[in-house]
Amino acid sequence: MSVLQNHSQEAKPREWGPRGTAAATFAARMSFRHVSLAYGGLEAVSDVSFELRPGEIVCLLGPSGCGKTTLLRIAAGVERPQSGEVLLDGQVVASADVFVPPEKRNVGLMFQDYALFPHLSIIENVAFGLQNMARSEVMDEARIALKRVGLQDYEASYPHGLSGGEQQRVALARALVPRPGVMLMDEPFSGLDQRLRDSVRHETLILLKETRASSMLVTHDPVEAMGMADRILLMRRGRLVQAGTPDELYRHPVDPEAARFFCDFNEIPGKVEKGTVSTPMGDFPAGGIADGSDVVVMIRPQGIRRARSGDKTSREGQVLDARFLGDYHELTIQFHGLDQSILSRMPLGEPVSQGDVLAFTIDSEHVLVFDSNVA
Ligand code: ATP
Repeated sequence: MSVLQNHSQEAKPREWGPRGTAAATFAARMSFRHVSLAYGGLEAVSDVSFELRPGEIVCLLGPSGCGKTTLLRIAAGVERPQSGEVLLDGQVVASADVFVPPEKRNVGLMFQDYALFPHLSIIENVAFGLQNMARSEVMDEARIALKRVGLQDYEASYPHGLSGGEQQRVALARALVPRPGVMLMDEPFSGLDQRLRDSVRHETLILLKETRASSMLVTHDPVEAMGMADRILLMRRGRLVQAGTPDELYRHPVDPEAARFFCDFNEIPGKVEKGTVSTPMGDFPAGGIADGSDVVVMIRPQGIRRARSGDKTSREGQVLDARFLGDYHELTIQFHGLDQSILSRMPLGEPVSQGDVLAFTIDSEHVLVFDSNVA
């Protein structure tokens, strides 16, 4: 039975087990140095360097085909880089001369489809990753892991009898039971429906922090990355574009494409004069971009507010469309002198109607200015 077919069974997800009972790992440091891998002429991963620090949760984020999965597979030892090095706690595990296979790396792997063994019971699935231990010890460890994910009563069941969310928990328990120094997860929540996904993501995050395993998680969803990651690595066309905390990437994206990945923007062209860009929506500091440069001013819809009376920076605009969307109003505004309409999302306040002419002001926190030559 497919993961999707099982969604109907998730009406009342079973509770996860008691927090603080998961076995701790010895978190490893994983280093990537100028790692590249091409398929034919296509560079899937191109000159990527970064460090996964002990105990850190890093999300590899980027659009489809940007090389996230390939980088994770290189980390796992499923793929070998064509150049560069991968190190685990300072020991080379992949280079031109060395290649340590996945089973010798002490990494935990979790795939999008969970990859449970259909012919093995739940407890056997979890126990699978444990070797070189007495059978009774293996079973004890597997039961502790299963209890932590709240599925101790299902040890004799088979994967097809569990819902998608429960299969995800079994896969998580199986990956964590050998106490891996690094956990590698490829889109681990994408098979779950939205309603369930948030809670599973939250419980998984708590469990990863509890085990203290260094974790690398692939996602194409910026909200998921911001919710899970200590640090986000933004990838594009095989390259690492920017690495930083969710806050750093959201507030200080390196270029317009990175900015657009996290948020919608209004984009207005302009020119820098005396360190300022003057637009029909207001004047904005050019942030060090040279006078005479063509720039793009990017304004988040949530940065456009109703002006207080007497605000000298305010500009008038006519509301072309006003929609109530629950948590906020979404307005389409035509500013005088601007030949494009502007999208605004503002908190609930006084009602606004189509046709109103109002004064608006821009919160500088929500404005980014980029040189058009790099845009
Ligand atoms: P997605 O989110 O869609 O899974 P991704 O960011 O994980 O994408 P990868 O799966 O790493 O991207 O793929 C990067 C590029 O390498 C893509 O252009 C893909 O088509 C190509 N590619 C990946 N694996 C192979 C392969 N085994 N053979 C040939 N090309 C491949």
